[in-house]
Amino acid sequence: MATMRVVQVPRPKGPLEIVERPIPEPGPGEVRIRVQACGICHSDSIVKDGLFPNTQYPRVPGHEVAGVIDAVGAGVAQFSAGQRVGVGWHGGYCGVCDFCRRGDFFACVTGQVTGITRDGGYADYMIAPASAVAHMPEDLSPVEAAPLMCAGITTFNALRNSGAQPSDLVAVHGLGGLGHLGVQYAAKMGFYTVAIARGQDKAPLAKQLGASVYIDSQAQDPAAELMKLGGAKVILATVTSGEAMSAVQGGLAVKGTLLVIGAAPSMQVSPLFLLSGSRSIKGWYSGTSIDSEDTLAFSARTGVRSMNEVYPLARAAEAYERMTSGKARFRVVLEM
Ligand SMILES: [Zn+2]
Ligand SMILES: [Zn+2]
Repeated sequence: MATMRVVQVPRPKGPLEIVERPIPEPGPGEVRIRVQACGICHSDSIVKDGLFPNTQYPRVPGHEVAGVIDAVGAGVAQFSAGQRVGVGWHGGYCGVCDFCRRGDFFACVTGQVTGITRDGGYADYMIAPASAVAHMPEDLSPVEAAPLMCAGITTFNALRNSGAQPSDLVAVHGLGGLGHLGVQYAAKMGFYTVAIARGQDKAPLAKQLGASVYIDSQAQDPAAELMKLGGAKVILATVTSGEAMSAVQGGLAVKGTLLVIGAAPSMQVSPLFLLSGSRSIKGWYSGTSIDSEDTLAFSARTGVRSMNEVYPLARAAEAYERMTSGKARFRVVLEM
């Protein structure tokens, strides 16, 4: 029997271990993907640390997948072998639940998540429901495309649904894996783009990524600096510190929105400040496969790229440690 390498988490808080498994066959409505690259996302810690109660182990993490269709199951008309594709966090939808019937596929009651409710992309091959799969443009390499399947789509889709118009002031808070993409997208979408991060040393990078203004939140009060510029129509909060998010909310313009995509456990808000200016705080789910296609196409056309550190699959454990260290610049990607 033909086998493949997978990197699995054997149990909650267990090590990432590389093992051989039989290459699986796609069932009805599914495709098999030969994985070429898979990004390592901070959310992979959900599997590694056992943060979802009903996750079954062993589990193969990975929801930033770029590869090639290798085989299609019964009833899959929209994909064929040899096509380049990607799979992200959204693991497919049923099409018949009430959320799907209203077009909110992201909220499907089946709650399928790539690399969490089913095995993901830390592997030579993986199976995905066709509804989770995005077509990929020819002019993006697998390593370039992989981080766009979670970090990319999350920032791109949040910004394009934020209500901001070209020339509106949009601040991107944080300049890490999400933020370094968010600044590029905001600039390419025509927003007056302000980057907020800690330390003056990040100013040249922020400008290089397309920010018109850089605010060093260690040396300056970011809320006051934003207000000097007229206030932000949108602040895209990519940081994972609720305290840091609280410190920027005062920079929202009247009717401005703090758009939260960093998974901080809690934050303090000022109800008086919100209500006095009809301001809001809102979260954003990453998106579905068609949103991924839009993200990939926009990135390919406009030159938005993730900066990556690349590791071979066999060094996945080391690569994961690099991601959790917070020192990676800026995404860590496994290449098969
Ligand atoms: Zn992710
Ligand atoms: Zn559904």
